[in-house]
Amino acid sequence: MTQRKLNLRTGDTVRVIAGNDAGAQGRILRAIPARGLVVVQEVNMRKHHKRPAANARGGITEGGIVTYEEPIRVSNVMLVCPHCDEPTRVRRRHDADGTIERICKRCDNPIPTAG
Ligand SMILES: [Zn+2]
Repeated sequence: MTQRKLNLRTGDTVRVIAGNDAGAQGRILRAIPARGLVVVQEVNMRKHHKRPAANARGGITEGGIVTYEEPIRVSNVMLVCPHCDEPTRVRRRHDADGTIERICKRCDNPIPTAG
């Protein structure tokens, strides 16, 4: 399979445009380009019911309900431009020094990569 490139990076703010959480906005916690998935903060939350279990030290690990974000498809989110504050598409621009910048198609400003 050819490697797909994402226009999204960890730390980007995205708007969810389809699915159960449509309309929600959050930061990308993790990107999984090989599978076309991103984990977005507070989006697609799941609860996992953990049962109490014996641990290696002979004690008991407490059970409980753990909430976590399940990855969602990149096609369900759009990058939110920090300049115009709207969901946007991006194009790539190759700079003279060889770095690739992402340019907002709405306002033509470069979108910074967090971290
Ligand atoms: Zn913009």
